[in-house]
Amino acid sequence: MITSGVIRTSSFGWRSTSFLKPLGRWGEGLLSLLFPPRCVLCGGACDGLDPVCPDCAAELPRLEGPRCYVCQEELKDPALDLCPACGTRRREFDVARALGPYRSGWGTLVREFKFEKEPAIARFLIARLAEYVREEEPFGNIDRITYVPMTRADRRARGFNQARILAHGLGRRLGIPVKRLLAKVRQTPAQAELSAAARRKNLRGAFKVVRSGQGTVLIVDDIFTTGATVEECARALKAGGYARVYVLAVARA
Ligand SMILES: [Zn+2]
Ligand SMILES: [Zn+2]
Repeated sequence: MITSGVIRTSSFGWRSTSFLKPLGRWGEGLLSLLFPPRCVLCGGACDGLDPVCPDCAAELPRLEGPRCYVCQEELKDPALDLCPACGTRRREFDVARALGPYRSGWGTLVREFKFEKEPAIARFLIARLAEYVREEEPFGNIDRITYVPMTRADRRARGFNQARILAHGLGRRLGIPVKRLLAKVRQTPAQAELSAAARRKNLRGAFKVVRSGQGTVLIVDDIFTTGATVEECARALKAGGYARVYVLAVARA
């Protein structure tokens, strides 16, 4: 049965079916006959509300191997605790983690969510993020959850901020207040082609705190690449009085 308000029309295209809402359960029953729910990752049959079948969900990989304690970068020398970036300069965030590698089902889920704003995928990712915060070592008490903000122009272009949706869902699940603590005050050129150092320079002063405070903040984002964006956010938060900044992303590039 489809109760999520979405149907799959192809193996990689979920589509909102809000136009069928007035039909209620009849509409949903009809839809599940016409378009049986399909797993976003394998295209196989998928029952219930999850966009991912149980087999694919079980196979979503974690970040394996020796990793940097601060940022989870893969370590070439397993005798060390820190990667070269975290070993040579203090990162603005205290700990950054991701659910798994971007080159896996995690990346597919993030992309599908980003471009389709698929609520079933958001729910699935939020549940996994909540499990991570509850079960994994590095996060202590979290006082507030926030997200990487977009400029108004970006939001208009995309229609929504995917990090904000994940943050709000996570806060609801964990009973932790979610606040907009940051604003992106400067449009930044695309970063895909830039080195880590150039990314940091590109982002300097791009974020400012709109609500100062104390305690520990968790920043939620969809993808962690070099960490330059969340690091700039963490710098602004610390300037705004917050003592500790943790980062949790869905996928690590
Ligand atoms: Zn599957
Ligand atoms: Zn590191």
